[in-house]
Amino acid sequence: GEHQETHSFQAEVSQLLHLMIHSLYSSKEIFLRELISNGADAADKLRFEAISDEALWEGDEELCVEVDYDPEARTVSVADNGIGMSRDDVVENIGTIARSGTRAFVDQLTGDQARDAELIGQFGVGFYSAFIVADRVTVESRRAGMGAEHGVRWESDGEGEYTLDNITRLERGTRITLHLREGEDEFLEDMRLRHIIRTWSDHIGLPIRMPKQGEEGPDRNEWETVNQASALWTRPRNEIGEEEYKGFYKHVAHDFEDPLTWIHARVEGKLEYTLLLYLPQRAPFDLWDREQRHGLKLYVRRVFILEDSEQLLPHYLRFVRGVVDSADLPLNVSREILQSSKVTESIRAGAVKRVLDRLESMAKDEPENYATFWSQFGPVMKEGPGEDTANKERLAGLMRFASTHGEGAEQTVSLEDYIQRMPEGQQSIYYITAESHAAAAASPHLEVFRKKGVEVLLLSDRVDEWLMAHLTEYKEIPFVSVAKGDIDLSGLGDDDTDEAQEKEEAQQRLGEVGERVEKVLEGQVKGVRASHRLTTSPACLVADENALSANLERMLKAAGQ
Ligand code: ADP
Ligand code: MG
Repeated sequence: GEHQETHSFQAEVSQLLHLMIHSLYSSKEIFLRELISNGADAADKLRFEAISDEALWEGDEELCVEVDYDPEARTVSVADNGIGMSRDDVVENIGTIARSGTRAFVDQLTGDQARDAELIGQFGVGFYSAFIVADRVTVESRRAGMGAEHGVRWESDGEGEYTLDNITRLERGTRITLHLREGEDEFLEDMRLRHIIRTWSDHIGLPIRMPKQGEEGPDRNEWETVNQASALWTRPRNEIGEEEYKGFYKHVAHDFEDPLTWIHARVEGKLEYTLLLYLPQRAPFDLWDREQRHGLKLYVRRVFILEDSEQLLPHYLRFVRGVVDSADLPLNVSREILQSSKVTESIRAGAVKRVLDRLESMAKDEPENYATFWSQFGPVMKEGPGEDTANKERLAGLMRFASTHGEGAEQTVSLEDYIQRMPEGQQSIYYITAESHAAAAASPHLEVFRKKGVEVLLLSDRVDEWLMAHLTEYKEIPFVSVAKGDIDLSGLGDDDTDEAQEKEEAQQRLGEVGERVEKVLEGQVKGVRASHRLTTSPACLVADENALSANLERMLKAAGQ
């Protein structure tokens, strides 16, 4: 070309490519899913931008992705008439990976090929999967609305360098051509390609076409649609099979595994919208990142608008994936409009309600699935009572904890279980927070509770302090920390000693020793008291009723407060 440049990949891109090729070989056919998915994204983007600039259609409104193959040249190609890329777009999007995802992806590779393949989509490095089967990849593209002379050709063997050329390209959109590696001839077969498309891309709401098979092979004057090509969520529930739901999940969530469960609901009334929400089986890698890549996809009357992780669901449900399709929002809706729209507010409340409904029924009817759910997303759900006060009681009902009743750190005890086991006369739900489960379980504060047979919740997730600051009661029973203030357990359990009297006697016995201890610890403790709480430890630290708990104090200190 007249303006060819050779560029080097960022070091991390080379490393990524190397890893990708060697670690994903057993799932190599996913390259087609990733390239088709990029074509579908490009079509979505064009449809969206054309709302405000009709010229971008350039007279061609029939969006599609075309998959073709050439046994002689040993190439497979995936072409779309979507938004396309300018030279700068190409450099930015596929020449470098400026994205933080790359490094994280490399770090997360486990060697389990199925699991690693799942990561590709999540990290936004899908394009590079082309190099699993190709030793040379050519991208030709032209951005919609730019003149034909603004076409660009990118080419690389995936070994560390790529070239860029200016080309003339009449059609808008992108064509990716894969020059297959030796031994990858299976992808030159019509049947094989159709099968992969149906397996991975059936539910994409965009036609994916291949040349029609005539008596003498493929006829490139006639193309036919290979996938279902209707937006899955718009179809009636009873016409959608389980496998279709699962397939669509893998597409929207970029997940390799099946979802745990899903919710498909059409809401009609004052507002009209459709929800297709999925709960994953496994937490995504960026669950704790402030900058999440994925969220719910918002469509307005089937036009993709944006992918959002903030407006459509509260933060504590950020692991939910899927689609919201609204009939009431304007097509030119922006993030700012979304933020203040009553429609969004009401969709959000509806979505939360349905997710909580499903979690409650799962907890009741499918305890094993619920346990899986809780083990992955429990710590996130614990952010809920602080964020969503309207649903505090429902959220509390969904919580699971470790406790002195059970063995081990596993969080399996519900507040309902706890209340069922409360001995007559118990007025509070007792808990302790600590840095680790072991520290909580070994706390001397628990001794008297153990002796009396009173269960104590053992809280050791980082988020538990935050949770307990917002969760003050459940079914009107207050939560009480066993490490704070004076706790009166008299009348509980089977030993009927008079605690008030016992305490007074103990205080007297402590007498002089107490005063001396107080002197030694002057300025460090508020006082030394005799306690009925301890049965085997000689002493323990107790926080004032209104003071910060020891654990919170430790956390604040660690945070430099
Ligand atoms: P992701 O799709 O998750 O962003 P990919 O590695 O699959 O990650 O693609 C990287 C980027 O390259 C895309 O975000 C997009 O900007 C650009 N891109 C890839 N394929 C196309 C295409 N067919 N049309 C337009 N842009 C594309
Ligand atoms: Mg992609």
